[in-house]
Amino acid sequence: MKIAICVKQVPDSWAEKKMLNGLLDRASVDAVLNELDEYAIEEALRIVEPLNAGGATHSITLISMGPDRASEAIRKGLSMGADEAILVSDPSLVGSDALATSKVLAKVISEGGFDLVFCGTESTDARMSVIPAMLAERLGWAQLTFAGTVKVDAASSSVEIARMSESGVEVMSAALPCVISVIEKINEPRYPSFKGIMAAKKKIITTKSLGDIGLSAGEVGMSGAWSAVIDAKARPPRDKGIKIEDSGDGGLKLAEFLQERRLI
Ligand SMILES: Cc1cc2nc3c(=O)[nH]c(=O)nc-3n(C[C@H](O)[C@H](O)[C@H](O)COP(=O)(O)OP(=O)(O)OC[C@H]3O[C@@H](n4cnc5c(N)ncnc54)[C@H](O)[C@@H]3O)c2cc1C
Repeated sequence: MKIAICVKQVPDSWAEKKMLNGLLDRASVDAVLNELDEYAIEEALRIVEPLNAGGATHSITLISMGPDRASEAIRKGLSMGADEAILVSDPSLVGSDALATSKVLAKVISEGGFDLVFCGTESTDARMSVIPAMLAERLGWAQLTFAGTVKVDAASSSVEIARMSESGVEVMSAALPCVISVIEKINEPRYPSFKGIMAAKKKIITTKSLGDIGLSAGEVGMSGAWSAVIDAKARPPRDKGIKIEDSGDGGLKLAEFLQERRLI
């Protein structure tokens, strides 16, 4: 079984972000591996490790689209235990929207002979939560999203997940190949060990240009984008709020406050 995991390098959640010419200025802030993708890596490792311990040779490949420095985030995934990685990096990709991103990732996946693709549920920067579904649609594969548990049956080439939704838990299954997105409650991602960090230094990250994967500049980036950021404003600072002193009539004042705002 060949497993691919889509991993994204994102600006550090704590960094102060700015817009530059309608795009998020990613270059000026620290960047990290999208935290939610660590759960996808951990889950794939938990599936593969026991099988490989029994002599099988299942592999895990990280796939990322991003600038050259995305290799730093990829290295973290490799140090957790993934085997190798593919990074699609090309100046024409700047300004790519979700449709373009999914086009690039799907192209790489379709040429890699993968049985299973794992994603996080969302990136911590753009947070659209659309890439897993777009990938499945482009690949013509089943999608099992928001998985809280994953059980792969290698013998019958099928996978079963528990899908966590607001209304409850749905148990769903699909034949491989398929795309799975996992939620953060699924596991506790491991910290890379010293041995893992050292091993990751020798693992191969194959960098591909747009031409290498058979796409042209007009299909991606600003020129190929179906969506555009029209305007962006920093969120106004929060008001101090209103403090209600309780000198016996606190409850009444609180009720009046809520009533004025039609909250009760
Ligand atoms: C007009 C416009 C211009 C943009 N320009 C840029 C830009 O210049 N640079 C830029 O970085 N972003 C840019 N973006 C944002 C970019 O399009 C989104 O980050 C991207 O489409 C993925 O969406 P998301 O981050 O919301 O992913 P989600 O759908 O929230 O992510 C779900 C999962 O998909 C996978 N995934 C998502 N993105 C990637 C990736 N790149 N590589 C591997 N796996 C991934 C991960 O597993 C992730 O957990 C732009 C967006 C718009 C609308």
